Amino acid sequence: MELKERIDKRFKQDFGEEGTFYASAGRINLIGEHTDYNGGFVFPGAIDKVIMAEIKPNGTDKVRVVSLDLDDTAEFGLNETDAPKASWARYIFGVCREVLKRGGVVKGFDAVFAGNVPLGAGLSSSAALESCFAFAINDMFNENNIEKFELARIGQSTEHNYCGVNCGIMDQFASVMGQKGKLMRLDCRSMEYEYFPFNPEGYKLVLVDSVVKHELADSPYNKRRQSCERVAKRLGIETLRDATMEMLDAIRTDITAEDYFRAKFVIEEKDRVLAVCDALVAGDYETVGEKMYETHHGLSKDYEVSCEELDYLNDIAKECGVTGSRIMGGGFGGCTINLVKDELYDKFVQTAMSKFAEKYGHAPKVYPVVISDGAHKEA
Ligand code: ADP
Ligand code: MG
Repeated sequence: MELKERIDKRFKQDFGEEGTFYASAGRINLIGEHTDYNGGFVFPGAIDKVIMAEIKPNGTDKVRVVSLDLDDTAEFGLNETDAPKASWARYIFGVCREVLKRGGVVKGFDAVFAGNVPLGAGLSSSAALESCFAFAINDMFNENNIEKFELARIGQSTEHNYCGVNCGIMDQFASVMGQKGKLMRLDCRSMEYEYFPFNPEGYKLVLVDSVVKHELADSPYNKRRQSCERVAKRLGIETLRDATMEMLDAIRTDITAEDYFRAKFVIEEKDRVLAVCDALVAGDYETVGEKMYETHHGLSKDYEVSCEELDYLNDIAKECGVTGSRIMGGGFGGCTINLVKDELYDKFVQTAMSKFAEKYGHAPKVYPVVISDGAHKEA
């Protein structure tokens, strides 16, 4: 049964009536990794994997929600002290609270939701969930007066204040603002953004999930950040956004080799995002692919956030003649994102599955994605 039908069936069962359907999407990031905290660019887009909800105001001050996928229900009030226990319900409660904190209106409602964004695979199922409810609440109770970018901030604040996740804005931004056939370059310093066409005719975009996550003891993420901050400080600038390779090379002997290579990656990555934008405008997907490989190489060799499994997936992609492939996300596990010619797709997926399984004892998961609309009301 289709997602929508399954939701509707349960909604009728539990709440008797018919509500309005809303959906929001998971996201990919084509290029621009570890750039957000350096004031640089990210380049995400919404995908054809969504969280969908059927919702109807219920005339009370209580929210009643059914999670179809987790086969669970929650009921909560809208005061700060009413937070539900279930972690999935806290995303929805948090969104309600963050709207109220901003002076918006939230009243009681009934909802059933489900989705097909894989959980915890790096496609931001949590942002899809937050954005779906933020968009719905804006439409149902606020005459869409809350700006779309603010809906993304509501999702981000939800993660910070109700879910214990100190995330940036990219995931919620992409989920809310995404448009079919378009990627968005978000400037993490000014928060300005621009849409770029992404219509890779003759290519597919596919994620290969290694299903590994290497937890490292000494918080490598914070160490990377500290390296970047040290170099920026040495250069007398706020973030590496304002650095060039000439500036970095001029202080090379004053800093550690490690800091040098960390900063080199960040500076080069900023330029790669800009190069990809130009390539997309020109419809040049071969260059896009080259830049993806360069990013992988930089993440692996200079920023050192790859791992054996991800490097192996990248090697397989290269051997199969895949146009572009790189780690997506912070690293140390998770997915690679791959731009693959249609005619190579089956061969690549099969080769990646079998070679990876042979070496690591489990097959990777494969998620083909199409760049699609973000948060919306379903027709
Ligand atoms: P991701 O990288 O996918 O965002 P997170 O750990 O940030 O992973 O968010 C996953 C959490 O979001 C789940 O543990 C659950 O609480 C909630 N969630 C995501 N998708 C669903 C869903 N389809 N049904 C219920 N809860 C969901
Ligand atoms: Mg998340």
